[in-house]
Amino acid sequence: MIVGIPKEIKNNESRVGMTPAGVFELVKNNHTVYVQSGAGEGSGFFNQDYQQVGASILETIDEVYAASDMIVKVKEPIETEYRLIKEGQIVFTYFHFASSERLTKAMVDSKSVCIAYETVEDAEGTLPLLTPMSEVAGRMAIQQGAKYLEKPVKGRGVLLGGVPGVAPGRVLVLGAGTVGIQAAKMAAGLGAHVTILDVNMKRLRYVNDVMPSHVVTEFSNEFNIRKHIKTHDLIVGGVLLKGAKAPNLITRDMLKEMRPGTVIVDVAVDQGGCIETTKATTHEDPVYIIDDIVHYCVANMPGAVPYTSTVALTNVTLPYVLKLANMGWQSACNLDKALSKGLNIVEGEIVYKEITEAFNWEP
Ligand code: NAD
Repeated sequence: MIVGIPKEIKNNESRVGMTPAGVFELVKNNHTVYVQSGAGEGSGFFNQDYQQVGASILETIDEVYAASDMIVKVKEPIETEYRLIKEGQIVFTYFHFASSERLTKAMVDSKSVCIAYETVEDAEGTLPLLTPMSEVAGRMAIQQGAKYLEKPVKGRGVLLGGVPGVAPGRVLVLGAGTVGIQAAKMAAGLGAHVTILDVNMKRLRYVNDVMPSHVVTEFSNEFNIRKHIKTHDLIVGGVLLKGAKAPNLITRDMLKEMRPGTVIVDVAVDQGGCIETTKATTHEDPVYIIDDIVHYCVANMPGAVPYTSTVALTNVTLPYVLKLANMGWQSACNLDKALSKGLNIVEGEIVYKEITEAFNWEP
């Protein structure tokens, strides 16, 4: 198969759909790989890195789309790419169709085969192509939180790890899923005291088993949240209700209960956030302050660390890319149930019912 890796053209997107390690595997399996010139630069991979493992470099995005049977990328195609997508071409990427009717219509019209990373789902109901980005965001939440706790940026002026003779900072983590556990682990590693809340006892038992004793689990309810926000310096929101808006676990009135300079990093912002005062921010302007509480609510946190994010993403996409290239999409999806859940639009037909439901379209 001929596989194309275009350069991402969405604003501020520096990730790339495949690393040289992925190209190496595809070439080893007798596939041809075309990489657009400069596609990997934002993630630290240069044309010669791809050429060394057998890829050919094409100058323009038009050439990459025109030459390829399958396009592997990161973000959904943006408008200037719509016209480049061909009938029968496989496009394997994050699509998030339910948030764009325009994109959905364009992909239906293209008659391509759209396989969405975010809906690939394994037998346990987990989403293996979303997990690495939650891991990145969870770990980053502590890095960012620690920075915004500094006084010059209006934080409380607390060093998370403390020093000998001074108690460490306190981190409250809402949700003990992928984001929450990674955040707790990073905070614990810095020496902070960590409290992690969830409504799922299985998750709390797991955290209790694997984390050091300065990571304390408690059940998530309003009483416990109200109690802890008064004494914690950094609050990380990592709650997810599958397919729904995150619940507002911290309401506006509760901000007054917190100490000035407390930092909230609401990672769940992409699902509306779990803090009432959350509104999405960008890496250019990541924080805002309400009632002396610093809010960091960047909706694409992994975008700030494109090297790590690209490698983490392609580690998990590559096995599926190889299957698709080796077997074609029909056989690959017949054989692999997880991958088949990624099929969203197939040659003009929407096959993932949540998309039609999102727009109230006739099935
Ligand atoms: P996950 O499903 O692994 O974990 C969510 C956890 O929330 C679960 O353990 C669940 O039991 C818990 N939960 C549900 N209701 C709760 C409540 N009332 N109180 C406490 N916990 C509750 O999800 P995840 O992968 O950790 O993702 C969390 C959120 O982070 C998602 O919205 C995801 O889209 C988002 N995310 C954002 C970014 C970003 O850049 N901002 C990046 C990656 C992920």
